[in-house]
Amino acid sequence: MLNLVIFGPPGSGKGTQAAHIKEKYGLLHLSTGEMLRHEIASKTALGLEVESLVVSGQLVPDELVTEVLKKALAEKMSQGNGFIFDGFPRNGEQAQILEDALNSLNLDINIAINLTASDTELIKRILLRGETSGRADDNEIVIKERLEIYRKNVSDLISFYQKLGKLNEVDGEGTPQEVFERITKLIDKHI
Ligand code: ADP
Repeated sequence: MLNLVIFGPPGSGKGTQAAHIKEKYGLLHLSTGEMLRHEIASKTALGLEVESLVVSGQLVPDELVTEVLKKALAEKMSQGNGFIFDGFPRNGEQAQILEDALNSLNLDINIAINLTASDTELIKRILLRGETSGRADDNEIVIKERLEIYRKNVSDLISFYQKLGKLNEVDGEGTPQEVFERITKLIDKHI
């Protein structure tokens, strides 16, 4: 089993890279952002509860997003060669929740990838994505809010995985292919 966490600011390309990693290494991709958008589009009770938060770029309370993540984890446990967690954890508390949930299943995170990019590049990418993504949170005002919330929480996430000796920083600028090559080099060193 290979279990990866990929985190990075909005627009850093986590989703794109996670899809490539999933393909190459036969992993299951668990994106809490996608799960929440799906709940919202399906108008479930949870979706209705979180919609205004997601649309305005705020974080969804830990209990709610944990519930969604654990459900997906339990459903997909026996498939694939491991998981790639994208968008969860997003703060120190969530990192501990994920660690405990995996440990109780006798699993562990092998590698945590911190994908980086400058704010100028991020804003440019998200505005471009907003033209086609249909995501209500891909607009200039909400992007700034999302970046600010991200920067506030990321230091706890970094120190959490640093202490476990699992943290790896990858430069997220350049073409998606270039970034993917950096990531595969890193993963291949571990397997
Ligand atoms: P991005 O990283 O580009 O902001 P995501 O698709 O990962 O996009 O997340 C979109 C939104 O979903 C977040 O702004 C937040 O409202 C909500 N969300 C996703 N994952 C989490 C999480 N782990 N904790 C709290 N809220 C989350």
